[in-house]
This record gives sequence, structure tokens and C-alpha cells, in this order.
Amino acid sequence: MTAMLLNGKELAKKRRSEIKTQVGRLKEMGITPGLAVVLVGENLASVTYVRSKEKACHEVGIYSEVIRLPETITEEELLQVIEELNRREEIDGILVQLPLPSHIREQVVINRIAVEKDVDGFTPVNQGKLLLNEKGLFPCTPLGIIDLLKETGQSIAGKHAVVIGRSNIVGKPVSLLLLHQHATVTMAHSRTVGLKQIAREADILVAAMGQAKKITSDYIKPGAIVIDVGINRDENGKLVGDVDFEAVCEVAGCITPVPGGVGPMTITMLLQNTLQASLWNHHVELAGRIDG
Ligand code: NAD
Repeated sequence: MTAMLLNGKELAKKRRSEIKTQVGRLKEMGITPGLAVVLVGENLASVTYVRSKEKACHEVGIYSEVIRLPETITEEELLQVIEELNRREEIDGILVQLPLPSHIREQVVINRIAVEKDVDGFTPVNQGKLLLNEKGLFPCTPLGIIDLLKETGQSIAGKHAVVIGRSNIVGKPVSLLLLHQHATVTMAHSRTVGLKQIAREADILVAAMGQAKKITSDYIKPGAIVIDVGINRDENGKLVGDVDFEAVCEVAGCITPVPGGVGPMTITMLLQNTLQASLWNHHVELAGRIDG
């Protein structure tokens, strides 16, 4: 059996084109959605991520601004930058690129972002709204995963979903989104005993652990949908996921590749969240697809 490929690159392209159309309609009303990305220091991976976010905004017509700050900035100075962005009307979304230098407390900075501009969905209020299944801005990678799952054409309701990883940005929020889609959800993590047996019961397996190729074919129920969130380098420096792709393809029903699976969907959901924030901030409703 060879699994069907869940192509995140293609779905992201389709979604970005839909977002571009919606942004165009907003612009006709005199509104341009705006995203501010705050980059502290020159961490190579962060610089690359920020560049891709800028490029993606440009492609769909969202105004983007990168605020580059020195590594030596104090926490108080950074908080003032956030306050200023909170006040600026042309900025609908604020994203602080993580990680921050160790002398700055990340959660203190995130907590200062206005909830209605929190396009990463990391503030306690938006995380709380997610828990309560209320309207809000939710983390991008989990939103992208749900969109990919819906693309399989299979219903999530009633399925047993096993999520490996319990971080605040992937594991926990994707577990909640799956629960709201009526899956039966099991959360596993580094202290879970008997991970293989638990994983083998999954109709939907989400691997978000950051361990290169850890999920081998004996973790997979035949026909399962496998979502690989991991971004790791193998011993040869090649980009790989948490799933041993070639072997798992022989057992799974559907699988996301790395790269080209979850990754492209994450930035796409950032665009979607920025558009959504802009619509809410301007009290505008557009017909068509926006999940929010
Ligand atoms: P994290 O380090 O914050 O969390 C990892 C989680 O995995 C923890 O909850 C831990 O308990 C669990 N874990 C670790 N080793 C385990 C093991 N052997 N067995 C069971 N559980 C284990 O990481 P994160 O920020 O949630 O990211 C997870 C992975 O996803 C990373 O590789 C990261 O690079 C990637 N990621 C990808 C995207 C994307 O857009 N594709 C976005 C965010 C994160």
C-alpha cells in the first residue's frame, strides 16, 4: 500500500489565491490589511522565516512591515515597541518572531500584544478562547493541520486522533481544534508510557515532537492519516520530519511530506489570521471562505 500524499504546497497555493481575492475586495473598500513582524537580533532561522512571511504578505497584497531590533534591546524597550504597534491603526496583526534573546521573557512580551492583533494566537486570551471554542485568533500551524485534514475528504468526527507533543504552539492547540471537530483525542508526550501502542490506535496521527524520523511504520495503524509537523535535520543535514516517510508510506492511508506538508500551510494561516483580524478590526464581513 502506498499512502496518498497530502500536498500542503498545493493547498497553500489555493488558499493564498482565495486570500488574495478577499484582500483585493477589502482594498476596494479602502482597507489594506497590515502585518507587523518584530525581529530581535539576527538568528539565521528567524531571519529566513521573517523573509518568507514578508514575501507571502506581498504576494497576497497584505501590507507588511518588519521591525528589526538589536539583540541588546531591553525587555522594557521591546514592550514599548509592541505598545506603539498596538496603537497604530494600519497594523492589524503583530507577530513577534521567536525565540527572543534569553534576557527577555517571551510570555511577558506576547502578553502585551493586543488580543485583536495577536495573529499568532499565542496570548492567554486567544488560547482561552480556543479552549472554550469561542471566536478568536488561533495558532497557525494547528489551523493549517485542520485544513489539510479536511482536504482528505474524510470526516474528523468520531475518529481517534493521537497528538504526539504538548507544546503551547502545536500540540495543545491542535488537540483542542481536533476535539472541536469531534475527534476523540489522546495527547502523548515525552513522559508517555507505551507510545507505540497508543500511536497504533490512531486513525489520525499528528507527530509534533521534534525528533527526526522517530515515528516508524510500526507506530502506524494501517490506513491512518499521518500529519508530520516536525522540522529536523538528519545526520546528512537533510530536512526531515518526525516521521520516517518512506517506511510509513507503505502503511498509512494519507501522509504529509516534509518539506511541502504542514510548513507551507503555517504561513498561509498567518495570512488568513491577518485578513481575519483586519475584517474584525474594521467590522467588515465578506462572503466566501474565511475560517478564522
Ligand atoms: P517543543 O519542543 O516545544 O515540543 C515538543 C513536544 O514533543 C513536547 O511536548 C515533548 O513532550 C514531546 N516529545 C519530545 N520527544 C518525545 C518523545 N520521544 N516521545 C513523545 N513525545 C516527545 O516543539 P514544538 O514547538 O511543538 O515543535 C515540534 C516540532 O514541530 C519541531 O520539529 C518544530 O520544528 C516543528 N514545527 C513545525 C512547524 C511547521 O510550520 N511545520 C511549526 C511549528 C513547529
